[in-house]
Amino acid sequence: GVLTIQLPNKTYDVVIEPNGYERLATEYAPLLKTTDRIGIIVDETVHTLYSEQLKRFEQLHNEVHTFIVPKGEACKTLDVYGRAQSFLLQKGFTRNSLLFAFGGGAVGDLTGFIAATFMRGIRFIQLPTTVLAHDSAVGGKTAINMPEGKNMVGAFHQPEAVIFDLNIFETLPEREWRSGMAELIKHAYISDATWTEQLLQDEQFVQPAFDTLEEQLLKGVSVKAKIVEEDTFEHGSRKFLNFGHTFGHAIEAATNFGTLSHGECVMIGMAYALLLSEKASTLQQGEAKKFIQFAKQQGYLFDSIFEYSFETLYQFMQKDKKASFGTLHFVILEKIGHPNVMTVDESLCREVFEEMRQLIE
Ligand code: NAD
Ligand code: ZN
Repeated sequence: GVLTIQLPNKTYDVVIEPNGYERLATEYAPLLKTTDRIGIIVDETVHTLYSEQLKRFEQLHNEVHTFIVPKGEACKTLDVYGRAQSFLLQKGFTRNSLLFAFGGGAVGDLTGFIAATFMRGIRFIQLPTTVLAHDSAVGGKTAINMPEGKNMVGAFHQPEAVIFDLNIFETLPEREWRSGMAELIKHAYISDATWTEQLLQDEQFVQPAFDTLEEQLLKGVSVKAKIVEEDTFEHGSRKFLNFGHTFGHAIEAATNFGTLSHGECVMIGMAYALLLSEKASTLQQGEAKKFIQFAKQQGYLFDSIFEYSFETLYQFMQKDKKASFGTLHFVILEKIGHPNVMTVDESLCREVFEEMRQLIE
């Protein structure tokens, strides 16, 4: 299926279907004709797994140059960013060139930032290869990491198109499925109680069949799209997309961005946010418990909340860039589908943490 994103000064399509990449040679041929060069930024894993597909991309135009970057978070560095920019300059790229981001959210963030800044901005197309990227590839946030923190240098830059080819998910490791589906259920919780319930009942939640996946991803993208259309630059409702992320980021930082994937940390963060919503807002009692049971059944791990003290996690929460002036801002749910933002002090934060430990044991 196709979903159109309409922003004040840019409209683009998100394609999610079994043979999505075929559209590049048909529907997107006119766009490709307007470019002098195509640069494909691809991560090493996707490069190895999809060399045949890369060849097909390389046949789309007579000047295609491929730049391979380290897999995962390791590509979002100033060093890789700089080397990629030099590569493009040496290959004669101009303001009329076009980039493809072929990889997961990390490659998408890197490529988007390269495109945002190369000669003050060139066009790019997202060809995302992870489930998580239904979240990251849409909305125009691009960034790289600094030694001081994640996503600290970046820009808003919207793609020309986002094209998913569902065949690409065949090789996705289970851990990455789990990561991506966490963001999907996040989109459900902040928008729609019926859809949330449907996901909670789905025994194949983590790795659904392709036809279900297409439908679910389109739903997820439409939630993100609607919020981004309302609030492109995150002054208001875009914050709701951070549901589960304040506590989730703390777990991610404490575990050193290694043992758990981003979505697995967000899953823990959503359990925390649901419990906070029950305690300090109007969410029906029992929702957090129900969510935790579901998450455990689906193979999500909660051990980390016993491995780190409240103090450690609280410090990480305060360092998160969404914290301002000492108080923490949490996205909570007044009820499922109705998010809001709430400031939370340290003692409430600690109480919820302790209750969560009891609930999980
Ligand atoms: P990723 O890009 O690091 O990919 C995860 C791993 O899966 C990598 O090792 C990659 O090589 C591998 N992989 C990718 N596609 C594969 C495939 N089809 N088959 C086999 N292996 C494959 O991670 P991600 O989870 O896709 O994205 C995480 C990144 O997204 C983070 O850097 C995060 O900051 C960013 N993000 C950005 C936004 C945004 O709005 N810009 C939102 C959420 C997350
Ligand atoms: Zn996230």
